[in-house]
Amino acid sequence: MKILDTGVHFVKNIGGYTVGSGSRYKLDEVLKKCNNNNPLVFMDNFFENYEAYDWLPASSIIEYVDTTIEPTTVGIDNITEKVRTSQAYKSVDSIIAVGGGSTMDTAKAVANLLTNPGSAADYQGWDLVKVPSLTKIALPTISGTGAEATRTCVMTNKANGLKLGMNSDYSVFDFVILDPDFLKTVPTDQYFYTAMDAYIHCVESLNGNYRNSVGDALSDATIRLCEEIFSSGEMKSAANREKLMIASLFGGIAIASSYVGLIHPFSAGLSVAYGTKHCIGNCIAITGLKKHYPMEYEKYVQWCEINKVVQPKLKHVVNEAQKKVLFDATIIHEKPLFNALGENYKSILTREYVGNIFEGMC
Ligand code: NAD
Ligand code: ZN
Repeated sequence: MKILDTGVHFVKNIGGYTVGSGSRYKLDEVLKKCNNNNPLVFMDNFFENYEAYDWLPASSIIEYVDTTIEPTTVGIDNITEKVRTSQAYKSVDSIIAVGGGSTMDTAKAVANLLTNPGSAADYQGWDLVKVPSLTKIALPTISGTGAEATRTCVMTNKANGLKLGMNSDYSVFDFVILDPDFLKTVPTDQYFYTAMDAYIHCVESLNGNYRNSVGDALSDATIRLCEEIFSSGEMKSAANREKLMIASLFGGIAIASSYVGLIHPFSAGLSVAYGTKHCIGNCIAITGLKKHYPMEYEKYVQWCEINKVVQPKLKHVVNEAQKKVLFDATIIHEKPLFNALGENYKSILTREYVGNIFEGMC
């Protein structure tokens, strides 16, 4: 296979990180390093009335993020409007995210909008953000998406059906605190589905036409870590929780300079047609795409069995009208499809072929 240039030649990484049990207590030190005292904290609403926040500065303002649905442009605009207009937020000098991909993406998007005019939809695309945001710090509480490391924040624009982030160097976190103790409370199935996102990003990237040496090396390392975690039979042990945080970080850095393949576009189709969540959608999609990723599908099935995780399937009967929506929402992802199948991808992914793949997810 001829290896193609990804076109990503300058890579912005996170400004720093710290790893380890209890590392959330280093937040104070990190804020001091950045000369910030008054953070606005976006926190997954799972933690509302749950955690003791003795590791947050007393001056913090907490904004709980509803993670029952994944971020939308309208939702981001509503939060931004509240922060822009209310006197209570005037002294905010930094943004902290405490949560998973949905919360981290919300924090990144609102942070960009606090220093740039307009609405979230104006910045869906590549390098449209012009002014750097306030300092941004992430404390992931569920791991796998790599959102703590990437230069995007994924949002669905329901008006035009576009699921696209603000791809910008200004979306990258300044500091990431990886405290594996946060992962203790994540329900087993959700822990596995989100963790699989790291594995799937890297499998798709390594199977693609567009490659680069850093992406390949970090993808290999991520896949090795996933093997160790999921084959151990105790994926939530203290050692594995820490390994998973590293796998997610590495997977995020890897995918930031490479491309996904077939699974993500089909998962995006499910998200547009049925509102399926990203990581569950990936696990459903790999089932329909087992012919394209046979070894990886086998691994996935094995790991579900070892870890006693339910394999999610498409519950809906796929009718002709839905097939049209699914097809359109999948085929729009040209770059990953080209990455996976080469320039003839459109002649391979006919309506009938794509429809059959979705039927295979039931
Ligand atoms: P999430 O943030 O959507 O959270 C999933 C569920 O886990 C929620 O119910 C949440 O309350 C719960 N949860 C989180 N932490 C918990 C904890 N410690 N204990 C108990 N429950 C906890 O999950 P996710 O899978 O990390 O994120 C998915 C989102 O990430 C999607 O919107 C997707 O588009 C986005 N994403 C972004 C990138 C990126 O580069 N920015 C990459 C991949 C995916
Ligand atoms: Zn993903």
